[in-house]
Amino acid sequence: MSAGDAGTTPRTFVPPLIVTQDNAFWFEGAKEGRLLIQRCTGCGALRQPPGPCCPVCRSFGWDTVESSRRATLHSYTVVHRPRDAAFGYPLAIGLADLDEGVRLVADIDGVDPADLRIGMPLDVVFTEHAHGETLPRLRPRQEPV
Ligand code: ZN
Repeated sequence: MSAGDAGTTPRTFVPPLIVTQDNAFWFEGAKEGRLLIQRCTGCGALRQPPGPCCPVCRSFGWDTVESSRRATLHSYTVVHRPRDAAFGYPLAIGLADLDEGVRLVADIDGVDPADLRIGMPLDVVFTEHAHGETLPRLRPRQEPV
């Protein structure tokens, strides 16, 4: 096995998430299956990912709105190499436009990466992370038939 090629090496180390006082609400929401978007109480601007200060009006006041978890694929990448033993490959990572008007970066599953298309409808689902946290993932929308 060459350096950077994890091959079939068991997953041994998944980096822990960095939870701070500025993003703890977001992870708590994810644990409940809710995608929360920070909203400035000064000007109403939505921001994602969370941050301490509004980039529009500089207010530190905020509350949250709950996302519909509906999105559209804005862009994506499929990582093949270098491989890290902590992740599965090919690893599809998407940049999605949430219906609320902000973007989310998350892994994409439930689809062959060759079938990904810009503009395809996605849903945000939640899965358990290696350390017990819950993280959002993007999955092609399954329209009811
Ligand atoms: Zn603001």
